[in-house]
Amino acid sequence: MINILTFFLLMLAGTDNYAISRERMVEEQIVKRGITDEKVLDAMRRVPREEFVPDKYKPHAYIDSPLPIGYEQTISQPFIVALMTDLVDLEGGERVLEIGTGSGYGAAVLAEIAEEVYTIEILKPLADSSRERLAKLGYDNIKVLCGDGFFGWEEHAPYDAIVVTCAPGYIPQPLVDQLKVGGKMVIPVGESFQELVLVTKTEEGIKKENIIPVRFVPMKGEVEKR
Ligand code: SAH
Repeated sequence: MINILTFFLLMLAGTDNYAISRERMVEEQIVKRGITDEKVLDAMRRVPREEFVPDKYKPHAYIDSPLPIGYEQTISQPFIVALMTDLVDLEGGERVLEIGTGSGYGAAVLAEIAEEVYTIEILKPLADSSRERLAKLGYDNIKVLCGDGFFGWEEHAPYDAIVVTCAPGYIPQPLVDQLKVGGKMVIPVGESFQELVLVTKTEEGIKKENIIPVRFVPMKGEVEKR
């Protein structure tokens, strides 16, 4: 009897509870809501979300909601990260730009599929902590810049895909300019009411498609001036 109990306790101790929660999150929050791309699901299965939230939220890392990361900012809800990654249609090998690094979680998910991820964060403490976190986790294909994402990151343009995780009132033109023809950008647009918009760049201009209503933190900086 004691032996069975000891065995059971040892088994429990050796189990990675986060891995179990992560798998359950993928099944219950992502697969059930209709995301089927295995590359996206595998990326969500690989990134340890608990490493991207403040210590006190670690036990809640896999709940179906955004969580505070300090400086009045949030790490996005897992489903929204998966949906945005799914919408830009990555095959592998792409160069992706993300605006709004925040915790770095979204960048890590993108970097599981794409070849290179460039991500911009306007708040220095978040840019610095995410850069350090991503390096520690071994994401050497992600570069973090502290700056205003409104202007994109010209140096590495054009991008195959752009993912924006803060909401501007309108689509910043530099981001459209830095997107490849045939490339896709997913961006929450609006103020109190926001719509997640999928932008496809064509030879003639851009095609816009409204996906779902969303709630992101507002984009700060240049976009507020006009
Ligand atoms: N992708 C993030 C979500 C972060 S929330 C994650 O997975 O954790 C959005 C982030 O956008 C915030 O950290 C906010 O500081 C940042 N942000 C707001 N305006 C910005 C701008 N103009 N340029 C770059 N980042 C901006």
